[in-house]
Amino acid sequence: MAEAEKLVAEAAGNTDGGSSEGPKFTLELNQDQKDIREWVHGFAEGVVRPAAEEWDEREETPWPVIQEAAKIGLYGFEALGQFWADETGLTLPIANEELFWGDAGIGMAIMGTSLAVAAIFGQGTPEQMGEWIPQCFGSADDPKVASFCSSEPDAGSDVSAIRTTAKYDEATDEWVLNGQKAWATNGGIADVHVVIATVDRELRSRGHAAFVIPPGTKGCEQGAKVKKHGLRASHTADVHLDDCRIPGSCLLGGKEKLDERLARVREGKRSNSQAAMQTFEASRPTVGAQALGIARAAYEYSLNYAKEREQFGRAIVENQAIAFTLADMKLEIDAARLLVWRAAWMGRNGQKFENAEGSMSKLKAGEVAVWATERAIQILGGNGYTREFPVERMSRDAKIYTIFEGTSEIQRLVIARAISGIRIP
Ligand SMILES: Cc1cc2nc3c(=O)[nH]c(=O)nc-3n(C[C@H](O)[C@H](O)[C@H](O)COP(=O)(O)OP(=O)(O)OC[C@H]3O[C@@H](n4cnc5c(N)ncnc54)[C@H](O)[C@@H]3O)c2cc1C
Repeated sequence: MAEAEKLVAEAAGNTDGGSSEGPKFTLELNQDQKDIREWVHGFAEGVVRPAAEEWDEREETPWPVIQEAAKIGLYGFEALGQFWADETGLTLPIANEELFWGDAGIGMAIMGTSLAVAAIFGQGTPEQMGEWIPQCFGSADDPKVASFCSSEPDAGSDVSAIRTTAKYDEATDEWVLNGQKAWATNGGIADVHVVIATVDRELRSRGHAAFVIPPGTKGCEQGAKVKKHGLRASHTADVHLDDCRIPGSCLLGGKEKLDERLARVREGKRSNSQAAMQTFEASRPTVGAQALGIARAAYEYSLNYAKEREQFGRAIVENQAIAFTLADMKLEIDAARLLVWRAAWMGRNGQKFENAEGSMSKLKAGEVAVWATERAIQILGGNGYTREFPVERMSRDAKIYTIFEGTSEIQRLVIARAISGIRIP
């Protein structure tokens, strides 16, 4: 575990090794970033892309691909630690873009764990990080996945409506969780579940806390598995918590910190710690990068197609209508990437998102992915509409990026509130 704690500390920047001047922002990627990009791209091209259609049709978790990723060190806490450790913050979005360029469903099967990890990383103590983050991934020989469970049937965009309760049992030093979680990526098939529950409903989202449910805990069961429009290689399901008892130490951040925070809130003082929102805010640029990967894949595919497909005796790209569409696709994708990289850099370097830059990046990248994949279908014509060509799948996959981790409307709300200073309802 000592090794795990060291890696986590390095990723968090809690070591003496950092530069005293602080990292500089540059759009020129360093050699490490280029190497990682090439490495992930190679895996996406050689392993993920060829498996994409099969797992989309099967609608099952692609365990052989996860195992392959674990074997080469792409899936595991060391890899994520290495991506996080980059002081510029760019390696994580770069790796996500490449992987999701391969395929978004499989990409999410591999990266879905990272939302649970982000919650533990953002809210856990160093001991909790050292204990639980490696368990989220399992080992290279026996990889596991983790699940982050915030949403509920009646609490999607409105996180404050969460009804799952966590009650402390002093006699046994245990927390007892009851409730139903909805749409949880890896829900029920995960070894580690991170669950957002309310410890005081009157305080709404300020009464929330995050809990780790250890592997095999009684009372934590998968509910219905969701059949989806896209991202079908990624498992999504309800999770039922039925008198689910977990050790007191599974409250992320610890009870003392929670009690202090709740006391502050009850006294009417500000509290910046809202369990689910913290996780979402930190992960938005990464999610934006995933959307970018899909958009770029669709753009590249349709560009090549447009150069080869001939109608009226010339390649269809020779028509301005097609060429300008491709020009706009490239333009929008690059613009979205700049927003993603800016937010990733800000997040990694402790810059406050004064204008909701994290939300901006996710909003733009998600909408570009939906638009660009739809345009790709148009460029491929009838072929684009069939499952014989990948842009149809890319379009289905892209749509989730305007819905999960905050819908486009909610991102606009967050940005509008940030820029106006007004709590727009
Ligand atoms: C494939 C998939 C994977 C997911 N993975 C996870 C996961 O791992 N963990 C997890 O916790 N959740 C997960 N979710 C849930 C996801 O985060 C929610 O679906 C999302 O937050 C939206 O909530 P909702 O579906 O309840 O929509 P609603 O909140 O009901 O929204 C419906 C519509 O109303 C709009 N709307 C709502 N409120 C407002 C407002 N105030 N102003 C303007 N418009 C508004 C929304 O933008 C949307 O268009 C996943 C969902 C899917 C489909």
